[in-house]
Formats: sequence, C-alpha cells, structure tokens
Amino acid sequence: MRLCRFDDDRLGIVEGEYILDVTGALDVIPASTYPLPTHDPLIAHLDKVLGRIKTLLPDAPRKKLDQVKLLSPLANPGKLIAAPVNYLKHLEEARADSEIHNNSQVIEIQRIGLFLKATSSLIGAGEPVVVRHPDRRNDHEIELAIIIGKPGNNIRAAEAWDHIAAYTIGLDMTVRGPEERSLRKSIDTYSVLGPWMVTADEMGDASNLDFHLSVNGELRQKANTRDLVLDIPALIAYASSFYSLHPGDVIYTGTPEGVGPVKPGDVISVEFEKIGRMEVTVTSA
Ligand code: MN
Repeated sequence: MRLCRFDDDRLGIVEGEYILDVTGALDVIPASTYPLPTHDPLIAHLDKVLGRIKTLLPDAPRKKLDQVKLLSPLANPGKLIAAPVNYLKHLEEARADSEIHNNSQVIEIQRIGLFLKATSSLIGAGEPVVVRHPDRRNDHEIELAIIIGKPGNNIRAAEAWDHIAAYTIGLDMTVRGPEERSLRKSIDTYSVLGPWMVTADEMGDASNLDFHLSVNGELRQKANTRDLVLDIPALIAYASSFYSLHPGDVIYTGTPEGVGPVKPGDVISVEFEKIGRMEVTVTSA
C-alpha cells in the first residue's frame, strides 16, 4: 500500500490520481500518555492500522491527489539517520569540488560512519524548503529513505530486510560550509520525505531502483540504488551496531553524484521507480 498524510493530519491511501481518506484507521493506535514513546506510534502499530484501513477502503471518501497538501508520510520519527558519501561517484565529486568538501578531507563511509538530522527539520512534499543562509551554497541531495518497522539492536545484515516497514523518497538538503553535517543538514525544512510511503511488501526488492532529480526541468542527479557503497542491509546492520533502531526511525541512504545548488524560486522534481514522483518548491524565509 501507499500511505500518505495530507491536509490537516489526515491519513490516506494513494490509488492512481486519487487519495482515499482512511483517517479513521488511526483510532486503532493506543493512546499515548506522558512520557511519549521515542518511536512513531503509527509505524509501531502498522499491521493493525493496515488491517483497519482494509475495512474502511470500500467506503472511503476520495480526493484528487493534486488538490491536497502532502505532509511528511511520517509524523513522529524518533531519529533521522543519514549516510554520507554512499555512492562512489559522489565521493569523487565531493573530493574534487572545494565548495562541497570545504577544504576538509572527505572520508569514506566505512570510516566516517553515519550522522543524524534533527527531526524538527522534517517536511513533506506539499511544504516548501525555506533557504537559510542564502549567501552560502544550498544543495539538493536525492536519496532512498528507509522507514524502520521493527525494533532492533546489532541487527545482522541477513535479517535486516525484516526490519523495514516502508520506503519513501528523501531530500537531504544541505548548506555547504565548515560546520558538522548534523548542523548544516538540520535546518528547518531541510529534511523532506514524500510524496508517500510504500510498504515493504508492495516494494519488494529495493536494491535496484532507478531514480533522478531535476531542478527547473534541468536533470541534475540520475542513479540506481544498486550502486550504494553500503547497501540497505549493511546500513541497517551498521546503524544498529551503534544505536537501537525503533519503529519509525528513518535511514537516508545517501546521495549519488550531481549534487548542486538551489535558490528561492526553484522547483525540485524527484522521481523514484516503484515509489513515485514529487515536486518541492524552494522559497526564502
Ligand atoms: Mn545526504
């Protein structure tokens, strides 16, 4: 299934050009009391939610996709994990371009590991990326984003696929400069997920997906997930060797070559095989 969140926190199923409103399925999620869980409650109870959705679908009200505002498909992720330089050609371009590497050594992912993006930076396809520090270079990075479904620690690569709930398209927006990645990539609106999430059973094999990104119609990035340096199971194994993974945790799997700047007024178009496409606008504060 393709689940989305839209308008005023409504839950939908995407079918072709339509969204079927199944917000009532959220009622099966147990109420939370303080302190709130550190996972995403919808993902933690996804099986129950999907079961309820099936009973609601026949009578669900329809809306045209182009008439709703798409929110991040995930409302309350505990953490946004991200992989730096996880395509070889992007490592090469980062090492060759001083505007990207900022005069610091670009270390391969096997040595530098992963980083975190603040959850407060998260938006969906219907919301604009709002550029901060417009005097500096602000780049797009298209990435496959994995949504963890099952808790785990020290997960073995062979079991990693079982820990995935869904997939979505990620934009890891970045201001270039000398600061830590976690700061430069955590600006409000600099973590986009969308346009919806595709459940793992519907996705099937995610290790051979074509994807591309263009800005104002100009193609900038085009690659396939088969070229990941640390592949999907390796990323889950690596991440969970440092911290527990919880339902709703996201892993941005890394961007390929072709990163480049955007400015207010630009429109970023991204498309992923077996997920879909979305357009994200860039604005100024
Ligand atoms: Mn990235």
